[in-house]
Amino acid sequence: MSDPRYSVVGSTYALEPKQRALIELVESLGPRFAERAERYDREASFPHENYADLRQAGLLGLCVPEKFGGRGADLRTYSIVSATLGKYCGATALTYNMHACSMLWPGALSDDLDMTPAQRAEHDKHRAIHYQRVIRDGAIYAQPFSEGSAAAAGRAPFGTTATRVSGGWSINGKKIFASLSGAAHYYGVLCTEAKPELSMRDTLYMAVPGNAHGLSVVGDWDPLGMRGTVSRTLVFKDVFVPDEAQMMPRGIYFQAASRWPHMFTTLSPTYMGIAIAACEFTVRYLRGEVEGTPPVKRRMYPTKQIAVAQLWVKLEQTRCLFLRMLEDARVDPPKDARLRAYAAQFTIMENANDLCRLAIRTCGGQSMLKALPLERLYRDSRCGSLMLPWTAELCLDRIGREALYEPGESDD
Ligand SMILES: Cc1cc2nc3c(=O)[nH]c(=O)nc-3n(C[C@H](O)[C@H](O)[C@H](O)COP(=O)(O)OP(=O)(O)OC[C@H]3O[C@@H](n4cnc5c(N)ncnc54)[C@H](O)[C@@H]3O)c2cc1C
Repeated sequence: MSDPRYSVVGSTYALEPKQRALIELVESLGPRFAERAERYDREASFPHENYADLRQAGLLGLCVPEKFGGRGADLRTYSIVSATLGKYCGATALTYNMHACSMLWPGALSDDLDMTPAQRAEHDKHRAIHYQRVIRDGAIYAQPFSEGSAAAAGRAPFGTTATRVSGGWSINGKKIFASLSGAAHYYGVLCTEAKPELSMRDTLYMAVPGNAHGLSVVGDWDPLGMRGTVSRTLVFKDVFVPDEAQMMPRGIYFQAASRWPHMFTTLSPTYMGIAIAACEFTVRYLRGEVEGTPPVKRRMYPTKQIAVAQLWVKLEQTRCLFLRMLEDARVDPPKDARLRAYAAQFTIMENANDLCRLAIRTCGGQSMLKALPLERLYRDSRCGSLMLPWTAELCLDRIGREALYEPGESDD
């Protein structure tokens, strides 16, 4: 086990043996991932080697239910594992989120939702196919939802449409910021069933093979941070997928989004990990323990001690809220838990970037050279509060509205 001060849960948090083993497994892979992170960032290239390691370690099946041959991790276990990954390579953790949640949402989350017996049977048949691809073939799934409209914010139907055709569906549209573009074997696309009037209730969740006829990856990828996610644009032109491509039955994604709100907190563990990494770096740097740096021992200055204390307080505030949010996660959470989930997401995303900013200010100029990880952590952390549907702005928007209004209330 790494130094418990820099573990996601600390040394006294109650963990099941399975969770402890998973954390240790990721900690054992972490140093290799950290070593490769600089190259993926510089090249803006996908972390293929890390995925080979994740596959080998059986972690592609983390959120595949045990009855389908996976490790059966729930949202809480996934989040702790993902945050641990985030300490070592933000881009790997963020893309792993897309894959792992493609397994979790049709798995443990869907088991909590209402389905007719026919829907449940159909879902079991379809998800067995998706899970087999991952467990048997090592397939990777992506989650391209964003379109540059109000859809990814959960405020409008997706403009990408699925039209019923014989034996399946024909998909047309465009997805922006598709992490794992060109690397995923399947893209789990949210689209709207093509009807005269598009409705969010008709959202379909379809796995499109990476080599499907009519699917193309376009545009370049040269962003500020999270460069290894390779989040380019996908264009779908009359892409045929069979019925079994459905990752959730018709109408069930809409139900999940309304009844399992913590499903949208799953991007935050990556940034929790980055926050921890920035604090760990700062302490080690000031103690003169960072390899490749001159012996800059600055810890005797009161200003440094105060700055580290400020970092520590903010880190613990963030980590406590993160762990509390995970305890709240369930279907139909009470209103206080829902509000806390928004507050936790806001706090983690904003504090991760603020901690990196403080870390650079505290360590000084040499710490932001590209040979060290801190400037990358800073750039990667900037992306957290931009991730839809729960951007920092939209979390505030939801807290303000939902704290002041009960469902159905208005001022008219
Ligand atoms: C590194 C990275 C990886 C990503 N990977 C993925 C991925 O794999 N899959 C995926 O689906 N997306 C992904 N995204 C996209 C991300 O979730 C957002 O969709 C994207 O950042 C939105 O950018 P935009 O300029 O289109 O924002 P806009 O839609 O223009 O929104 C800008 C801001 O306005 C606010 N806003 C938006 N809509 C509303 C509204 N209706 N009401 C009030 N305020 C609103 C929000 O705060 C938002 O941040 C990724 C983004 C990044 C940076």
